[in-house]
Amino acid sequence: MNKKLGIVVHEDFALKHISPYPKPAFISFESPLRIKSVIEYLNKKKFFDDNRIIKIVPESIDDNVLLLAHSQYHIDSIKKISNMGGGLLDEDVFVCDDTFELAKKAVGGAIQALKSIINKQVNYSFAFIRPPGHHAFREKASGLCIFNNIAASILYLRKRLNYERKIAIIDIDNHFGDGLAQYFYDDPTVLYFSVHEFDFSQADLGFLDELGTGKGLGKNINFPIPENLSDDQFLEILGFLIPILKEYDPDLIIVAAGFDMYFADPIGNCCLTTTGYYNFTKDLMNVAEEICDGKISFILEGGYSIIGLQFCADAILSALLDKEFEAPEFEQDFFSIGINIEEFNKIRETLKSQLSPFWNCLKI
Ligand SMILES: [Zn+2]
Repeated sequence: MNKKLGIVVHEDFALKHISPYPKPAFISFESPLRIKSVIEYLNKKKFFDDNRIIKIVPESIDDNVLLLAHSQYHIDSIKKISNMGGGLLDEDVFVCDDTFELAKKAVGGAIQALKSIINKQVNYSFAFIRPPGHHAFREKASGLCIFNNIAASILYLRKRLNYERKIAIIDIDNHFGDGLAQYFYDDPTVLYFSVHEFDFSQADLGFLDELGTGKGLGKNINFPIPENLSDDQFLEILGFLIPILKEYDPDLIIVAAGFDMYFADPIGNCCLTTTGYYNFTKDLMNVAEEICDGKISFILEGGYSIIGLQFCADAILSALLDKEFEAPEFEQDFFSIGINIEEFNKIRETLKSQLSPFWNCLKI
């Protein structure tokens, strides 16, 4: 395997944008340690000695690039609060004096991850960036996210590089990417698929019948699940998506790579292990090879287990490099619970019937 893998990283992501509120405050989980642990682990394993890996620094962008995805008001608000020394935007969003610049760098990192693939510099890429982006809306920050890194990078491809081809987003973060889904809800050139933990009793956004609108109808696909998703069920969900992906035939696949479904994550309530992430990546690579010359970009979203993140990253990078992967020893003591099979099947069948008018592969 001689495919090149681009890793987007910058030391600032491991140093800046620190919550002034100590744990157990929810917002403190989004910390520089998330990236620091991954970088140090990769260095310790001499990952970068592999000549198939290309280290990529985030593209330096001006504020006009942010305007592709956000209102001037939102951009100015973040800049102003950063200049004032920081503050809380709502209970789930904190801003520090360096947040504006770091969030801008995160957008630049996502842009570079996609650009390096489109320009054929690499075949795969993984952007280890923060703050995360998939909850950010055009008009406001939300859920630990300042700017929408993936939406902004796609809009950059569209507006600045005249890249008009179809893109599929697979959002595997434990939470529904409400901001990201909104950008492309009526856009048939972007397929958004999200699997996420969902509160079926209270309901929430990210439900089964949010299918998109207008020309984008059928191209917003939510697979909401109750807690305890297992590795096997995670792969089954990808198995559900694969025929749709083949029919959609995108030119590029972006994975909104949140790792808060990892069993040891302090926020998510699912049961995935590194083996699940490894096998998911392998299966996805096979489909990508068939439909889009293997082009996949992983963009980091959530994931708050500091020890888990480095192993999850290792699992995915090892798969992309076509290497064997050995799960960490401590995972052997974990028993995966899994979602009740009947409940799981009911969700899948309901989604299938909702989508069948829009996809030939789902017609009975
Ligand atoms: Zn999340």
